[in-house]
Amino acid sequence: MALKFKKIKVDKKVNYGFLDKQQKPVKFKNRIGLGQVHQNRIICLSRPTRKRFFAGFDGSITNQKGITLTVNVADCFPIYLYDAKNKTVGLLHSGWRGTVRNISGRAIAMMVKQFSSKAKNIRACIGPGIRSCHFEIKKDVINKFKKYPDAIIKKADGLFVDLPNIIKTQLTKTGVALKNIQDCKECTFCDAKKYFSFRRDKHGKPKTMLAYISLVA
Ligand SMILES: [Zn+2]
Repeated sequence: MALKFKKIKVDKKVNYGFLDKQQKPVKFKNRIGLGQVHQNRIICLSRPTRKRFFAGFDGSITNQKGITLTVNVADCFPIYLYDAKNKTVGLLHSGWRGTVRNISGRAIAMMVKQFSSKAKNIRACIGPGIRSCHFEIKKDVINKFKKYPDAIIKKADGLFVDLPNIIKTQLTKTGVALKNIQDCKECTFCDAKKYFSFRRDKHGKPKTMLAYISLVA
């Protein structure tokens, strides 16, 4: 496992990771896949199900052991959620569209509602994605970010957005403590050895990497 989050490593009851381009694929038993349509719908898996794919969703939360939540990413951020108190997990696909649609805030609200989680007990980890060093936006989408002026960075060569900054703002707004948010700080565009990047690799066939989290059975 290349990616280690101190905030999750609290016990052996949760298994998570990120399969970057240097790692061999893993075949998960009971893997949950999502349609990933850049919206903000989150599926709640609160009882055993045989269904393994949910079209039209960009996030999932569960209290069920032995199923592996996954998202495919290459520039979009995987957001890992873990409530150590009541043993629930979540995983989100948060590109810029999902981020402006506040998928992180919605996921926390859902964990609170469905699993009686307390936001202060939830730990959140932000995986590798495209960061403000490379996430340039054109003027036509700037108004989508108008709620988050602090996240817009004006440079001589254009406008850039700090998506993890927005995600952190949304999480803390729901009551997640800043100290319980860990950001791996890695940029998929910057590190071509380790990561696929949709923007950087646009000439080839786009490839993605797999983020996963599960409660150990
Ligand atoms: Zn970068």
